[in-house]
Amino acid sequence: MTIPYGKQNITAGDIAAVMEVLASDWLTQGPRVPEFEKTVARYCGAHHGIAVNSGTSALHLACLALGIGPGDLVWTSPLTFVASANCALYCGADVDFVDIDPETGNLCPEALAAKLEDSRRLGVLPKVVIPVHLCGQSCDMKSIHALAKEYGFHIIEDACHALGGQYLGRATGCCQYSDITVFSFHPVKMITTAEGGMALTNNANLASKMVRMRSHGITRDPGEMQAPADGPWYYEQVELGFNYRMTELQAALGISQMPRLDQYVRRRQELASRYDRLLADLPVLPLRQHPDCKSSWHLYVIRFQGQYKGKRRRQIFTAMRRYGIGVQLHYKPIYRHPYFQRLGFSETALPGAEQYYSEAMTLPLFPALSENDQDRVVNVLSRVLYRNPE
Ligand SMILES: *Cc1c(COP(=O)(O)O)cnc(C)c1O
Repeated sequence: MTIPYGKQNITAGDIAAVMEVLASDWLTQGPRVPEFEKTVARYCGAHHGIAVNSGTSALHLACLALGIGPGDLVWTSPLTFVASANCALYCGADVDFVDIDPETGNLCPEALAAKLEDSRRLGVLPKVVIPVHLCGQSCDMKSIHALAKEYGFHIIEDACHALGGQYLGRATGCCQYSDITVFSFHPVKMITTAEGGMALTNNANLASKMVRMRSHGITRDPGEMQAPADGPWYYEQVELGFNYRMTELQAALGISQMPRLDQYVRRRQELASRYDRLLADLPVLPLRQHPDCKSSWHLYVIRFQGQYKGKRRRQIFTAMRRYGIGVQLHYKPIYRHPYFQRLGFSETALPGAEQYYSEAMTLPLFPALSENDQDRVVNVLSRVLYRNPE
């Protein structure tokens, strides 16, 4: 049986929580969604949580709330899931990529500073920058925030990997150094609601805008209405929004999962340290961990060194899969995807992202991974590494 790279955890309690909703009056727009929003916002130390039907929807709403539209420019990391860039394209904006530090996979503040300086000269500064906390380790938010002040852009943290992680002693999601932070609750992520996502913010205006846009741009708040109410049935569509709502079933699952989040992070951290020890003599390096960060350890990535990069990594990857180890590569740089090549990135090759892409491989890591299975991963890897290439 193949050991997957990630896997959800569903308990009898989770199942009971969802069943209870099914038997209740509210399948959607009931009390669970606001309760889940409060639970996550309180855990992270943010004022407002807006639950939606996916992390991608949360990114889209975040861009809309910050006023992104045609003619605007959004920058993100090339080393992330495509949704981090697509959210800007949905708004009709242009997207561009800032190089990463190949030792962490995270957006590199020096590369950002250099690109900002060039762009200022050309008069084309970004309106929003979306740093991505790859594998659960926070980006250097203090430096990125300082640049935001200097150059006047907004920050959306793509923390889809990082629920349960910390930066400078505070939970990722507290929005100390950003306008909005976004989480995903897809089954491979830190906790799951099947599909689902959430945007957190400390700004009440951004929050109410996202709440409106999640539900067609409709408001029932007298303060937001633009025409006089003509009856107690009254609601208004004041702008063009979407149906991005989370269901009560999803929220019930999320509420049931949240109390186990810290335990999951601890277990992932233990397994990650154990990988570090078991792999110490192999020609691979783990991602560098910065002392300011406590990763949520969403993913465990190794980087092949020396002769094991590139073509050899590809052979090793294929052999691992053949031996039932569900390795993965997070990620192919976004600009390499055919759609983005057609958008004008056919000449783009950022050195940090390219280096990472030629070296990286994700090993299985999830809370229920047994030490036996972990040993199997390491044994297969060391056998495959030192076998003659086929
Ligand atoms: C999973 C993920 C998303 C999208 O989340 P969905 O819930 O699948 O829409 C966005 N960004 C990153 C970095 C992700 O890993």
